[in-house]
Amino acid sequence: MTVIPHWLNKQANLIPHHTAIEHEDGTVITFRSLQEKSQSFAKKLTNVGVKKGDHVGLLSTNELKLVIAIHALSYIGAVGVLLNTRLTPDELQYQVDDANISLIVTNDGLLPKARKLTLQKLETFLSVLEYEEQFVTLQEELQLDEVFTIMYTSGTTGFPKGVTHTYGNHWWSAIGSVLNLGLDKKDKWLATLPIFHIGGFSIYIKSVIYGMSVYLMEQFDTQKVHEAIMEKGITIASVVTVMVQRLLELVDEDGYPSDFRCMLLGGGPAPKPLLEKAKEKNVPVFQSYGLTETTSQIATLSATDALNKIGSAGKPLLPAQLKINQPDSDQVGEIYVKGPMVTTSYFNKVEDTKEKIQDGWLATGDLGYLDGEGFLYVVDRRKDLIISGGENIYPSEIESILSGMEQIKEVGVTGIENETWGQTPIAVIVPKATITKDEILAYAKERLAGYKVPKEIYFVESLPRNASNKLVRSELINYIK
Ligand code: ATP
Repeated sequence: MTVIPHWLNKQANLIPHHTAIEHEDGTVITFRSLQEKSQSFAKKLTNVGVKKGDHVGLLSTNELKLVIAIHALSYIGAVGVLLNTRLTPDELQYQVDDANISLIVTNDGLLPKARKLTLQKLETFLSVLEYEEQFVTLQEELQLDEVFTIMYTSGTTGFPKGVTHTYGNHWWSAIGSVLNLGLDKKDKWLATLPIFHIGGFSIYIKSVIYGMSVYLMEQFDTQKVHEAIMEKGITIASVVTVMVQRLLELVDEDGYPSDFRCMLLGGGPAPKPLLEKAKEKNVPVFQSYGLTETTSQIATLSATDALNKIGSAGKPLLPAQLKINQPDSDQVGEIYVKGPMVTTSYFNKVEDTKEKIQDGWLATGDLGYLDGEGFLYVVDRRKDLIISGGENIYPSEIESILSGMEQIKEVGVTGIENETWGQTPIAVIVPKATITKDEILAYAKERLAGYKVPKEIYFVESLPRNASNKLVRSELINYIK
């Protein structure tokens, strides 16, 4: 059992006056102050009744108090269950029950939603602050094999499962990332992704492990993010594809300031035309691959390879291993990953855990291949694969090609049943400007093998997305009926 000193205490001791968090409204909080506020919040939560090992639901959009509450839980040794604010009350209730949550702490804005839930106890950040501090022995050490957080997978492909993350998973995720990206004293990481997802959450853990400043934005706003990168000394930003798309519209030929060294792209596939546009505009996009189960990215394309391996998600980070299970004749197979940042269990789901994690190897459910030099290319989710006349068709390949058309805003591809071929692909399109089916088919025929050209094109106003804004391909079919 490995223990380390509490990471926030460590930074409060080493660099007490260094900025831990700079809020977009101008509020600045140092490591010392973050420690004091978090410890005080821990003592107040103790008065509310929270004890070591309790599961506390956190239902909040991005704000300072949420970060303080997260660190407070680590001082008590309680487990934080990060709840997605966009879920419906029914979806939330499932997670509350499944994760054995004894208390939810929410922000004022989400209180009406939280009130719709059947709960043992409900508090807001402000109501907790009104409690007196109660004496409690705050944890001075963190046990790396102890569970710190539970986060539910976004449920793109089924019922959400609670992924447990130990302190060790968070620690090694942060270490793997910094061994690849490096660290500079002036680093300031822009955090606009939701904290309830691992991509957003992990930035705040990196902050206390590296002693690095975070620039906190409550939500993604293209103009504000662009301005922050231009003017606030941001050096790294975590983003998802749609954010890159919008930001690139605002970047002129001078690109971003030279201190801005990494736009870390995760969460899903990125169409090649987008990556090429970023390259033209000198925006340093680093493609990465990761899952909730891997505590954020587990493979990243490093700066030196970013330009000549476009479309690749790079190589596994230092403490991680990655292999392709049972590759087919094109070398494509299921991606398996292993390493100290990979979860060891789904909460309360013994069977799922056994099925997905064997000998430390996690079966990701994603298909991919490694090129001759060991670079990973993620092809698609295994469940979304279309098999047509014995040929494998990956919807994301077709989506990536079609999204290169100027007049197309968004596109989703799925397979429908076909008597002759078993399945054939269809494309569901949200247009940006006037465009005809024939134009789309002509464009596709020039760039795709015949069997990959969609057999039908449907125009819709929006695509089915889940609470994490990810495309739910299995629902496309309902959108065209
Ligand atoms: P569920 O597991 O419930 O279906 P989810 O898979 O969307 O939900 P997340 O952990 O949020 O849950 O997302 C991880 C998934 O995102 C990966 O399994 C993969 O399908 C996709 N993904 C991540 N990075 C990439 C990438 N570089 N290229 C393609 N897909 C990616």
